[in-house]
Amino acid sequence: MLKNFWRPFLLDLGELEGDYRAFHLKDDIRQSSFYIILATVSVGIMIATDSVLYRNRPDLFLWMLVYRGTFIFISILVLISIYRTVKVKIYDRLMMAWLCFVTLFLLLFNFTRPAHFLTTAYDVILPLAIYIISPLKVFYTFALAFGFSAGILYIDYFHKTGVDPSTLNMVLAAQIIVHIIGFTSSIQIQSYRRKSFRAYIQEKDAKEMVAYLANIDPLTKSLTRRHFFHIAETEFQRFARYRRKLSILVLDADNFKNINDTYGHYAGDLVLRSLSLVILEQKRTQDTYGRLGGEEFALILPETNLQQAKVVAERVQKVWAGTPSNVDGQIIHSTVSIGVAEANEQDTSFEDILRRADRLMYKAKEAGRNRVVAEQTLPLK
Ligand code: GH3
Ligand code: MG
Ligand code: MG
Repeated sequence: MLKNFWRPFLLDLGELEGDYRAFHLKDDIRQSSFYIILATVSVGIMIATDSVLYRNRPDLFLWMLVYRGTFIFISILVLISIYRTVKVKIYDRLMMAWLCFVTLFLLLFNFTRPAHFLTTAYDVILPLAIYIISPLKVFYTFALAFGFSAGILYIDYFHKTGVDPSTLNMVLAAQIIVHIIGFTSSIQIQSYRRKSFRAYIQEKDAKEMVAYLANIDPLTKSLTRRHFFHIAETEFQRFARYRRKLSILVLDADNFKNINDTYGHYAGDLVLRSLSLVILEQKRTQDTYGRLGGEEFALILPETNLQQAKVVAERVQKVWAGTPSNVDGQIIHSTVSIGVAEANEQDTSFEDILRRADRLMYKAKEAGRNRVVAEQTLPLK
C-alpha cells in the first residue's frame, strides 16, 4: 500500500534498485565523507570556543572535551570505514549509525541549554540536512529527521520549565515547516537521481542493441563478416599465445544458384536460413559462426583438434542433407560442402588457416559435393 502511495512521487526502479544504489555508491561515499569531515571540523572548532568560554571552569571544560572528543573519534572511525567499504548495505548501516549518533549528540546538548534557549539554528538545520544529504531510503531518512525533531520537542515541552506556550508553539511550527520542505526536497532529489539512472540504463541498452544489430546478419543470424573477423583475430591471438587447439570449418551451400533459379530467390533465402539454423544448433556456445558472404559460412572451434572438428563438420553435413526445406508446399533438398583445417605452428594469421579450410571446401566440391574434406596430414604436435 505504501509503495502505491509513493509511486506518483518517487520513481520505482524495481529490480534495478540494487544496481542504482551500487552505481551511485562512490558519489555517495564522497558526499557523505565531505559532510562528516565538515561536522568533525566544526566540533573541533567548538572545542577551541569552549576553552575560552570555560576558562574559569576547568572541570566543565574537561567534560566538554570528553563529549566533543567522543564525537570526533567516532566520526573519524565512521569516515575510515565508509572509505573502505564497497558494499551498499554496509555503507547504509554506517551512515544510519552516524546520523543516529549525530542526532543523539545534538539532542543531549539540548538538555544543557537554559529554559529560554529553545530552537537554535542547529535544531532547524539538522532535520533539513538529513533530508537533503541522506542517501538512505526515504523511510529511514524520514525516521531519522522525525526522531530528532521528536526529541527536541520532547525536551522543550517536558524538560524546560517556565517557557511561554506561544514560544513553544513557534518551535513546533518551525519544526513542521522544516519537515514539509525537507521531505518534499528529499523526494525530488531521489526522483531526479532515479530518473537519470533509468535514462542512463536505457541509453546503454539501446547502444548494446545497436551494436548487436550491426554485428548480426538478419537473414541467417550468423555474425557479419566484419564482426566475425574481429573475433577471429582474438581467437587466433589466444591460439598463438597459449598454443590452444583451434580448428576452422568453411561451409558452402551446394548448387545454390540452381535452387534460386528453380524455386526463386525468396525460397533460396528460406533454405539459407534453415541451413544456418542447423549450424547454429550443432555449434557450441564458445564457437564463432559467421557469414563470409553469399552462401558461404565459417565456424571457428576453439579448444578443438582436427578429428573433433571433423566430427562436427560431418554431423552438420549429414543433418543438413537429411533436412529438406518446405517452402509453400515445395520440398527443397539441399546439401553443403565443408572444408576442415586446424591451426598449426606455421600459421602466422587467421587468414592462413581460413585459406586452407577454403581450399579443402573446394576439394569437397570437386569430389562431388555434399561431403567433408579435412586436412590429410595432422598438424605438428
Ligand atoms: P557450388 O556448389 O559450386 O557452390 O555452386 P553454387 O551455385 O552454390 O555457387 P555459385 O557461387 O555459382 O552461386 C552462389 C549462389 O548463391 C548465387 C547467389 O545468387 C546465391 N546466393 C548468395 N547469397 C544468397 C542469399 O542471401 N540468398 C539467396 N537466395 N541466394 C544467395
Ligand atoms: Mg555454393
Ligand atoms: Mg559460394
